[in-house]
Amino acid sequence: MVSPGEREPPAGSAGNLAALSELDEASLLRGLRERFLRQQVYVSAAGARGGVPGRRGAGLTALPSRRQTDVGDILIALNPFQPLQLYGREVSEQYRCHDEGSLPPHIFAVADRAYHAMLGRRGARPQSQCIVISGESGAGKTESTKLLLQHIMNLCKGNSQLEQQILQVNPLLEAFGNAQTVMNDNSSRFGKYIQLRFQNNTVRGAKLSEYLLEKSRVVQQDTGERNFHIFYYMFAGLSSEEKEMYGLLDPSLYRYISGRFGTEDVAQRWKQKYQEVCNALDMVGFQEQEQVDMQAILAGVLSLGNVTFEPPESNASLKMSEASRGWLKAAAGQFGVQEEELLKCLICTMSVTRGEQIQRFHTQQQAEDARDSIAKVAYGRVFGWIVSKINELLAENVDPEVELREIGILDIFGFENFAVNRFEQLCINLANEQLQHFFNHHIFQLEQAAYREEELPWETITFNNNEPILNLLLAKPLGLLSLLDEQSAFPQATDKTFVDKLNSSFKGNLHFQPARGRVLGFSIIHYAGKVQYTAGGFLEKNRDTLPANVRGLFINSVTPLLSVLFTATISRTGTLMPHVKAKIIPEADNKFNSTRKQSAGAQFRHSLMVLMERMYSANPHFVRCIKPNSQKEPGVVDNQMLLQQLRYNGLLETIRIRRDGFSWRPSFEEFAERYGILLVKPDVSLTKERKSRLFFKYWHQEQLAKYVERLERAAVVIQKVFRGFRCRKSYLKL
Ligand code: ADP
Ligand code: MG
Repeated sequence: MVSPGEREPPAGSAGNLAALSELDEASLLRGLRERFLRQQVYVSAAGARGGVPGRRGAGLTALPSRRQTDVGDILIALNPFQPLQLYGREVSEQYRCHDEGSLPPHIFAVADRAYHAMLGRRGARPQSQCIVISGESGAGKTESTKLLLQHIMNLCKGNSQLEQQILQVNPLLEAFGNAQTVMNDNSSRFGKYIQLRFQNNTVRGAKLSEYLLEKSRVVQQDTGERNFHIFYYMFAGLSSEEKEMYGLLDPSLYRYISGRFGTEDVAQRWKQKYQEVCNALDMVGFQEQEQVDMQAILAGVLSLGNVTFEPPESNASLKMSEASRGWLKAAAGQFGVQEEELLKCLICTMSVTRGEQIQRFHTQQQAEDARDSIAKVAYGRVFGWIVSKINELLAENVDPEVELREIGILDIFGFENFAVNRFEQLCINLANEQLQHFFNHHIFQLEQAAYREEELPWETITFNNNEPILNLLLAKPLGLLSLLDEQSAFPQATDKTFVDKLNSSFKGNLHFQPARGRVLGFSIIHYAGKVQYTAGGFLEKNRDTLPANVRGLFINSVTPLLSVLFTATISRTGTLMPHVKAKIIPEADNKFNSTRKQSAGAQFRHSLMVLMERMYSANPHFVRCIKPNSQKEPGVVDNQMLLQQLRYNGLLETIRIRRDGFSWRPSFEEFAERYGILLVKPDVSLTKERKSRLFFKYWHQEQLAKYVERLERAAVVIQKVFRGFRCRKSYLKL
């Protein structure tokens, strides 16, 4: 007989939380904390191996029918807030093709598992994989994504140009899409899904999808925060001649960067970053002229931001100071448009009624809003264009004979609950609801369905099923987004009528609360807690219309890039840069004529559905990033913060189902190899040669049946010996 200590089933391996003898919040917290203080930042909630029959999901998520999933260990990653010697070449080599469970949990192990599973090694069926990284801002999602990419590229190891390129586009994305926030000095202000596409074990291409760039940051940042990195990099990196060429003056003059620059040290680092961006631009294949145009547009955005208006003296048009005139002139030059045309876009709205052009003058507020929306749309299009160029560069070069498989990595903003929550937060939180649903589906629903199917004795684990919240937001025609669309289509509707509509439609809904008093808003009880939304601006943001004269202004720009960026939206059959067109026109928009543009909510819902469909058709791996403290300090754990994240991540339930569930799923051979020794009768005990897989083929059916029966009995004994170990019948059958 073996003693438990000698032959522990893999569920007991180091760094595995399911091996904790007690399981409550306090012990989980203690376990994580102790490990963290020993710099063990990776902990695993042990996963299952082997196949679990899938189920068709109900409701809002399209699921392929019966399929195999093999949810790997769930990796909990605590942000160390300091460089650790954990990611060197040697470590990557160590984890490269390692035996599962033989090394401590690590982000590289997740990459390794996904890669081999994709190839159908280790007994799995070859299948596309996806890795879902979640956590709040600053928890370490983006760093984890980079480490996953690094290890996967190391695994392919062709050292091909493509592998290098996949790693090198990152500085570009971060420069344009990241910014310093209170939560994180390098916070991604967009979500991304990277699909790595393989044929056999070689990467053939990659595709990047971006979600919800936070364009409002271009025109305004909260205290302690900054604009997108690229603006500062430009000031630090451009030579004085170049600055003159772009018409850039001292950074302290610009409102959109709050007149703030960095210290000498910081500027030195930015300068280096600027160089990296230029190298990446060259590498991605941006032409010289495109790079110049792009920087001119960014300079134009900054100048435009300094144009301010003063209230008119009765019945006259808005007034402008001399300085503002100067900035307007600069912006027009940088955008390559006529100053007067640009001014018109700011101070009035043109519309055509019965063939007659009607001009409506703006108030000061409207003019400044128009200024900000022009800046946001220009920046947003530049970003979208960069992403589409990257996709062009990384597009796959495939062998049509060989099947294409993917590893997708999702790095998307966590749940948000700020002092003021707007339309953007609603979209972000909706995405998080979807991801939580995806997680629940794999961790709880599929798992328990499999137990039921095998009639295993099992107490149902309750988990926070968020389907009702998804319904509240997404149902058609009475979900929140549909109601918002309905209201957006009425010219007379206002944010107030929208709120009234919600209040009457969701009366009594457990996940909806009307605002108290005269506040224009509503609350939603999300899976991670209650969030109060401010309804002001919902309709306008959802309508997302670009005034026709702004589009016209930019199409006629003498800056070729600007003209292309805005042409793309109207020229549906345009021959100009088809990738730009593909990127900017939302897919579903093609169905409508140009006057019926899809709303922002509908576009987001659509891209989220496409994403979820991709993810449901792949085999998932989960990385839960945790932020140990809000001061970004190494070696500090804020218990309350940790606990809160464990709670809304559902980690306690996850660990419980992993520990008490049937999480070790050995193949027959594996099981026989470990426990065959328990069989005492010599004629059927396994000798060394008989352990080989081939041997089973020659075994008499009757003998085999007896053997299985004995193993099953052995399993019962083993279950008693090893706490937390169960073996499922189906895995004992050949
Ligand atoms: P998120 O994408 O979740 O907002 P990031 O991945 O940008 O968070 O991480 C925030 C910061 O935390 C990083 O800039 C880095 O300083 C630190 N950090 C994150 N992960 C690690 C890690 N594995 N090792 C060392 N520092 C890390
Ligand atoms: Mg990030």
